[in-house]
Amino acid sequence: MAGFGSSQLSRQSISRRSSGPWRLRLLAVFMAILAVAAIVSVFVSERARATWGWLADLSDPEIRLGTERTLFGPEIRLPFAVEDRNAVALTYRVDNDPQEIPIASPEVVHLTKGLDAGPHAVTIVAVDAALLSNRAELRVPVEIDQSRPTVTLKTDPIVWTKQGQLAHLRFVSSEEVETAADAPYSIIREPDGGYLLLRPVPIDEATGMKTDQYELYDRAGNVGVLTQRIQIKPVALRDGTVTLTDALLAKCGVSTFAEQETLREQNYAQITQICSVRSTPESFSARYQRPSIGEWTSLYGERRLYNKTSWHRHLAMDIAHLAGAEIVASGDGTVAYADVLGIYGNCIIIDHGWRIYSLYAHLASLEVAKGDTVKAGQRIASMGDTGLAGGVHLHYSILVANVYVSPDQFLQKMAELAAEKTQPAAENP
Ligand SMILES: [Zn+2]
Repeated sequence: MAGFGSSQLSRQSISRRSSGPWRLRLLAVFMAILAVAAIVSVFVSERARATWGWLADLSDPEIRLGTERTLFGPEIRLPFAVEDRNAVALTYRVDNDPQEIPIASPEVVHLTKGLDAGPHAVTIVAVDAALLSNRAELRVPVEIDQSRPTVTLKTDPIVWTKQGQLAHLRFVSSEEVETAADAPYSIIREPDGGYLLLRPVPIDEATGMKTDQYELYDRAGNVGVLTQRIQIKPVALRDGTVTLTDALLAKCGVSTFAEQETLREQNYAQITQICSVRSTPESFSARYQRPSIGEWTSLYGERRLYNKTSWHRHLAMDIAHLAGAEIVASGDGTVAYADVLGIYGNCIIIDHGWRIYSLYAHLASLEVAKGDTVKAGQRIASMGDTGLAGGVHLHYSILVANVYVSPDQFLQKMAELAAEKTQPAAENP
């Protein structure tokens, strides 16, 4: 484009020899200079590129796939990124069908029309708005599986439990399944091929008989639903009062009760975030134990009125003993947190896998670091009164699927599971 007649035109106009309408020639020269300037400026100025880039763009768009997933169920979602100097029109084709379908949401192929089970190919097509309509295609092989997993309950069809407790059931599935990442329950694959489902009951969940529906997804995203009746009984809990003195507030670095309330909320949110990671160790061990000797002093679930102002649930059990008493990991796992954490003082959180976490607070010392692997019974800290603690004790919490459950009932439940003989789950439907 750059060389198109421009030098010729200039020479002619400078000679002024021709007797034609010279104003028109001057205009042509002016236009030619403008065109050359525009093309040159495209290479130097960002702004000019936006205006004139379509002329000079000779390169094809670049398409990069944003997922490694190739197996899909009821719908295909292929996120991708496209790069080009100009605006790009995006379409896709399926298999050998020549019809190009516009991509509705930017940079995601979202295909919900029914494809037969088996291998297919989705081709993403990008055509830019340049003069030459540069074009790129990316062929993505996909596998379609639209059959739902068949899930069958293997334990009692009615579960009886209490507020703040951990309930469980067992089931088998026709194929490998997983829950949604934020489901309020967790599943564990057992060595016999069957599944153990842990269903934590929040302390404030309404009591009575209800029907739970657990959604279980196969690798393609097809859902199988397990239905279970669950009877939730109330627990009778004491209410208590707590007075936070200035000296106590100073121990967690705040000077007013209101600041303490804010810090408490931040700490709570941080714990929720730490415990929202789902890790899957190689095998499940129901071997759990008490983290220290001593008296259970405050029970799980008690409501406390702080400074005659705010009610908070005690979502832990307190174990009191002498300062420096040994504290051990409750179960096998990986240290997810080992640091100061506001009102909790020195605090350790252990990830036991399958969304089971234990938390230890008010520690005198931290003897493990984030990322360390620990075994049940391994020493991790010593007892203290750091953070918002009026006396030496361990504040011990258990979270399952990010729900706080009663730690002593959790230990009982794990002991039961460890002792229980699991039924052979060989007869997959
Ligand atoms: Zn406590």
